[in-house]
Amino acid sequence: MLLKWIGVILLVAVVWWLLRRSSGQPTAQAPAPPQALRGQPAARRSGPQTIVACTHCDLHLPVDEAFMGPDGRPYCSEAHRIAHLSDPGRRPSRGA
Ligand SMILES: [Zn+2]
Repeated sequence: MLLKWIGVILLVAVVWWLLRRSSGQPTAQAPAPPQALRGQPAARRSGPQTIVACTHCDLHLPVDEAFMGPDGRPYCSEAHRIAHLSDPGRRPSRGA
């Protein structure tokens, strides 16, 4: 009979400890992505984003991160924008 009560008390203590642990310290269980904490507005990151392809190399990237050329075309980087604007005919070939 005494062992049964000890078991019940232990069970209650474990349940209470688990509940306390899950609600008390969210950092221990679910570390937030570091990007969400730094600078970037949460609303901007969570919604669907428009994906564009770099005019120079066809790399796909979110429009937020694209470098827009004077003609309104997206580029993956400043280097590709400069490269394409200085020589629009040349593209880094993907084999074909
Ligand atoms: Zn590119």
